Amino acid sequence: MNAGPYEAALGGATITAGKPRAIGVIGAGTMGAGIAELALTRGYRVALYDLNAEQLARAQHAIARSLEKLQARGKLQDSPDTLLAHLLGTTDLAGLGGADVVIEAAPERLDLKQKLFAELETLCPQAILATNTSTLLVSAIASSVGDRARVVGMHFFNPAQILPLVEVVRGQDTSARTVEAIMELARDLGKTPVLCDDTPGFIVNRVARPFYGEGLRLAAEGVASYAEIDAVMRGAGFRMGPFELMDLIGLDINFASTVSVYEAFFHDPRYRPHPLQARMVAGGRLGRKTGQGFYDHSASQAAPQSEPSSSSIPQRPQVRLHLSGGGRLREALEELLSGYERALASEADWVIDCSETVSSVAAIVGLTPRSRVLSLAYAGSATALAARYPFPERVVGFSCLSPLGDKSVIEIMPALQSEPGLAQDTETLFAAAGLSVQMVGETPGGIAARTVAMLANEAFSALAEGVADQTTIDTAMKLGTNYPRGPLEWAQLIGLRAVLSILEALQRETGDDRYRPHPLLRRMVLAGKDTF
Ligand code: NAD
Repeated sequence: MNAGPYEAALGGATITAGKPRAIGVIGAGTMGAGIAELALTRGYRVALYDLNAEQLARAQHAIARSLEKLQARGKLQDSPDTLLAHLLGTTDLAGLGGADVVIEAAPERLDLKQKLFAELETLCPQAILATNTSTLLVSAIASSVGDRARVVGMHFFNPAQILPLVEVVRGQDTSARTVEAIMELARDLGKTPVLCDDTPGFIVNRVARPFYGEGLRLAAEGVASYAEIDAVMRGAGFRMGPFELMDLIGLDINFASTVSVYEAFFHDPRYRPHPLQARMVAGGRLGRKTGQGFYDHSASQAAPQSEPSSSSIPQRPQVRLHLSGGGRLREALEELLSGYERALASEADWVIDCSETVSSVAAIVGLTPRSRVLSLAYAGSATALAARYPFPERVVGFSCLSPLGDKSVIEIMPALQSEPGLAQDTETLFAAAGLSVQMVGETPGGIAARTVAMLANEAFSALAEGVADQTTIDTAMKLGTNYPRGPLEWAQLIGLRAVLSILEALQRETGDDRYRPHPLLRRMVLAGKDTF
């Protein structure tokens, strides 16, 4: 075993089998510094290597400041000085010679990582070699190493000290022992590890793509403004909408992830980047860090929080409703609109058609041209649905997403055929029942259900390809991205038939293969299975 300066500094740590005590970290940037700090606070000895001495000094300084803050908040058992005595900063890779586990967080370049791993193989003959890569294949990095069984992915999320998820990525040749040791290490660092296969974007960076991709397309299609889209997504339970989140992450970082997943899937249209984001990145609008992104951050103001249009509750119109079709969403609407009198379809002022599939839309007994119809835009855009009724001018589309909660937004979408004033009356109908409403341009699924259907479709594809199992995918998305529920869990809540219907409508109306429903979703619907 090589005795590097690391061992010398720490009194000659000896490496024994079992629980690792000494961790080497490569790269003292955002992630490396975070991982080093985390490991120190959890009682590990850490050697932190960076070829840039200034960067290394900055990272050591930042770790010291952060430990002091943790101590001031009563979050440290040992003093910062005690912990810092266990940290060795080095600009010599040989300094990692005594590590049981090396976690590499150098820049995202395959050639650079391969070279580092080839050197590590001889420097640390016993150590597990883990990479924090976000977008490269672990197996590609491992290809520069003879003993590939000890190379594994250990993908932290930024900030590594705080975010609870670690994706443990099993490369082509990673041994079960290596995987188990890294799962255990992640747990010991206070994280929830999820095991996944070595596929582009692993779980989180792959399944999250439609969150941004659909946001960008909805804005570019003119369905709603950035602020309106963000508000609808917050209403659906997301901590942030896609535009505020991209501004926070940095448009360039987010764009690079999208491009890398797109390239890795050989230009599958499901992952196609959007020209709107490409233009903003090219023009230097990178989000908060440059003061300009989708929002203007220059005046140190928070992103404008567009709230749905109904801030004051209008008086309830004296109208009678008839609700038909649909599943859980219809039940929830029945309850939320319970203040309105009910009537048969033939006598109602408003018929709310919650049908989720093309074949059931407009199949309402007793519908008369006197009724005005609100049609759930899952099986098509408002215009496509209106065309199925005998009197299209009396039809307006709407969308919302299960489960309906206090903050849910009802999206109202006028059809091209809708007579003037109809959409506004619809707005009043919902707003008077205390529901938040937002007028948006038409699209199958509206903003929230379209985005969640696409997240679910991507999760189905990851599931079918064996990237991870259902619970793991849902857990990873909740912990790695802060989603209020996992996409597969959500698909079950909405109903798989409804998810399929939205995707089919999007594919039919746009002709874009991006929206092709995954065969597993289709088969589950055909088999009448609504749960996993
Ligand atoms: P960064 O640019 O902040 O840090 C990289 C560090 O590596 C720098 O300090 C640089 O001086 C150093 N470095 C450059 N060449 C080196 C070499 N040959 N040997 C050793 N050090 C070298 O990058 P980062 O954001 O911390 O990302 C590091 C890795 O973590 C990448 O693989 C990235 O994909 C991954 N990752 C990043 C994030 C994130 O949000 N930033 C999240 C998860 C994973």
